[in-house]
Amino acid sequence: MTQATSSQADILVVGTGIAGLAAALALARQGLRVGLLGPRAPLPAPEADSFDPRVYALSPASRDLLADLGIWDALPAERITGVRRMEILGDRPVWGDRPGRLGLSAWQAGCDHLAWIAESRELERVLRQAVQWSGIRWTTEDFVGLEAGRAADGVTLRTSGGQALRARLAVAADGADSKLREAAGLSAQRSAYGATGVVVHLGAELPHQECACQWFTPNGVLALLPMPDTRDGPQVSMVWSMPAAQAAALLALPEPDRARALETRLAAATGGRLGALRVRSPLFGFPLVLQHCPQLAHRGVVLLGDAAHVVHPLAGQGLNLGLGDVKALAQVLGGREPFRTVDDPRLLRRYERARAEPLLAMRAVTDGLFHLFGAQAAPVAWLRNAGLDLVDRMPLLKRMLVNGASGTGTRA
Ligand SMILES: Cc1cc2nc3c(=O)[nH]c(=O)nc-3n(C[C@H](O)[C@H](O)[C@H](O)COP(=O)(O)OP(=O)(O)OC[C@H]3O[C@@H](n4cnc5c(N)ncnc54)[C@H](O)[C@@H]3O)c2cc1C
Repeated sequence: MTQATSSQADILVVGTGIAGLAAALALARQGLRVGLLGPRAPLPAPEADSFDPRVYALSPASRDLLADLGIWDALPAERITGVRRMEILGDRPVWGDRPGRLGLSAWQAGCDHLAWIAESRELERVLRQAVQWSGIRWTTEDFVGLEAGRAADGVTLRTSGGQALRARLAVAADGADSKLREAAGLSAQRSAYGATGVVVHLGAELPHQECACQWFTPNGVLALLPMPDTRDGPQVSMVWSMPAAQAAALLALPEPDRARALETRLAAATGGRLGALRVRSPLFGFPLVLQHCPQLAHRGVVLLGDAAHVVHPLAGQGLNLGLGDVKALAQVLGGREPFRTVDDPRLLRRYERARAEPLLAMRAVTDGLFHLFGAQAAPVAWLRNAGLDLVDRMPLLKRMLVNGASGTGTRA
């Protein structure tokens, strides 16, 4: 039996991951009464030399949003690494025995950094503190269903603890398997890549020099992201999007065979670019999918973050897209005409229009690259490697790519 709460929020954000926490804060900053619904699992205290396996490459646009929310300066600077260069290496020789290569650097874009690598749990920690200070009411239960029949003045959400929470607008930030999205009747088209993102932190023999490296190998896309040095020396974080069967076989190996097998593969894939690489944390695997929602809002429910879209992690842009949603929704709702309520379908259409182009572009780029580099036919393989080399010699195109990669969006 559910009981109705007396107070009604303008907006109830469902989902307490990074996108949900940032959305709650950004919307509260617009003067809206915001509630938050979702679990608050304890976060382990930060420890020197111990890092969250989940790290994100945050774009300058995401950094700016976090700075506007007062979050950026609260992050522990010693646990964040700036990325000044990116190197993208192909999988086949173009001329002689050298594979295609494309180098991008921050100075080409006239900025300090292309991205920053930050741990998921440190971002969550400071976002949670800010939510607490903002006086946002956080109900630490799960969303379980929408009350049938939408009232004229909003929606009613049922929680796992038997409460009924009312709001003008519900924001679904409850991840790729969003229950709120499903309850609102918003469809999601999902296709599996047949690949798994294997993540682990590695000790490196050579310094990373703030460079993020990515290899398009015949066994998937390998990315090594610069991380803070440890007592044992330089460190990088690995995301290897490998075929699902290969990842399953690797993850099924007992330790220490698993670490040795990965280190051997890394040596072959990187050609010793960072010297010997040693596994220094447990391995995790995430199944990779492409997910797209044709409609982002319907009858008092709006989607953002992974609830709205999931892209291949090869460009490291999933969370950046989610934070882009947060910014757009806050701008649209904060800038509404005084006579419109936050659930006005015209406002929600504005949000959908604002996100249509960035979401389509990111889907096209990540999916296109995945298929281009997945093709094994020799002429395609030669062409894509030659393409990397060619782009490397075109300064204007490179500047556009750098601006795209850093999310600054400016044109050459
Ligand atoms: C291997 C890998 C590497 C990646 N690297 C990058 C990167 O470098 N840069 C980048 O930008 N992105 C990256 N991504 C993508 C990024 O991980 C996601 O886009 C991001 O975590 C999504 O955040 P979110 O808050 O939308 O969703 P989630 O993180 O999934 O959060 C959803 C929240 O909703 C809560 N929830 C779920 N169900 C309910 C319910 N019924 N009621 C209430 N709450 C609920 C959950 O507890 C959780 O807190 C990567 C992804 C993978 C797989």
